[in-house]
Amino acid sequence: MLMARHLLAFFMLSISILSSPSNTAAELLLVGAKTGELLTAGPLTAEPLTAEPLTAEPLKVANAELIIHWKSKFNAAERHKLRNWLVHAANTTSLIGGQFPRQQANINLYRYDNTRQAVPWAHTVRHTRVQGVTFYVNPAMALESFISDWTAVHEFSHLFIPYPGRDDLWISEGFASYYQNILMARAGTLSDTQAWQKLVDGFKRGSNDSNSDLTLTELSTQIRSRGGFMRVYWSGALYFLQAEILLQQNNQSLNAVVDQFSQCCQQEHKRWNGQKLALAFDKIANTQVFTPLFNRYGQQRKMPDYWPILADIGILPGKKGNAIQFSADSRLTQRRNKIIQGATIFEGTTTFEGATL
Ligand SMILES: [Zn+2]
Repeated sequence: MLMARHLLAFFMLSISILSSPSNTAAELLLVGAKTGELLTAGPLTAEPLTAEPLTAEPLKVANAELIIHWKSKFNAAERHKLRNWLVHAANTTSLIGGQFPRQQANINLYRYDNTRQAVPWAHTVRHTRVQGVTFYVNPAMALESFISDWTAVHEFSHLFIPYPGRDDLWISEGFASYYQNILMARAGTLSDTQAWQKLVDGFKRGSNDSNSDLTLTELSTQIRSRGGFMRVYWSGALYFLQAEILLQQNNQSLNAVVDQFSQCCQQEHKRWNGQKLALAFDKIANTQVFTPLFNRYGQQRKMPDYWPILADIGILPGKKGNAIQFSADSRLTQRRNKIIQGATIFEGTTTFEGATL
């Protein structure tokens, strides 16, 4: 197995801490909010900065440099735990093409103790030259709670593609919501069944949205006032799953498209939107998959029927409750497994962080 199921075994490998340049605190821009149960947390007020000098630490991981900015007071044990969490999340996110989406990223860490969640709130920071993520964390939670939390993989996944603007927020949030589950399964943090169940649960939540007077594009611009998070996030995730299945029929994979996009186009200085992203993906894959789907999804007034799409990879509604079941057809099982494994990119031997996958 060439896949990254070994990730858990090596994430505790030594972390390279380099010198500590001074912290250049940046203004933050809120472009991504937490979804689901975490929405109830709402915006948080960080603990005030302490009088201690703030430091920044470069952290080498997944062929990239994360610059950790300790924005609150954390003791040595807490810092150790948080570094391990970031290493694991960065390695997990790198399982698309073998490297973290950006060569450098700023990671702002604020403590938030008054919660039973490891990571109650986070958002990407897009407007600075070096992009990154701001996390609010409760360092009292066990490392396992951090590892099993999807937030970091979601936020890091955002960094693979440029921010497409508010109208097309669904494509950005869909991308991160899709990949948080696929990548956590690829890393072995979730079982395949858990990952598919979580995706289907998300599609179900998206279907319960009542804003049928608005298209997905319109809902994206009014996401906060209309409370349309679930439909926006999970319609977008379904878009990428459907694209993935269509690509697979052509012996291609979303994995390879994203990896190539990272190399050719991610750093381009232009104003991106969903249409331009879809066009770029189609150009890379030499297909007409992303653009027609993009046009269709943007105009939809409710979550598309996801069961016919899931049937193509052998996922069926369960007989009782919300639990999914799988078809016995081995061809469909193979298609489904290929998505989790990201097979096309991992053929051959891929090495990073001193580990052979
Ligand atoms: Zn997001």
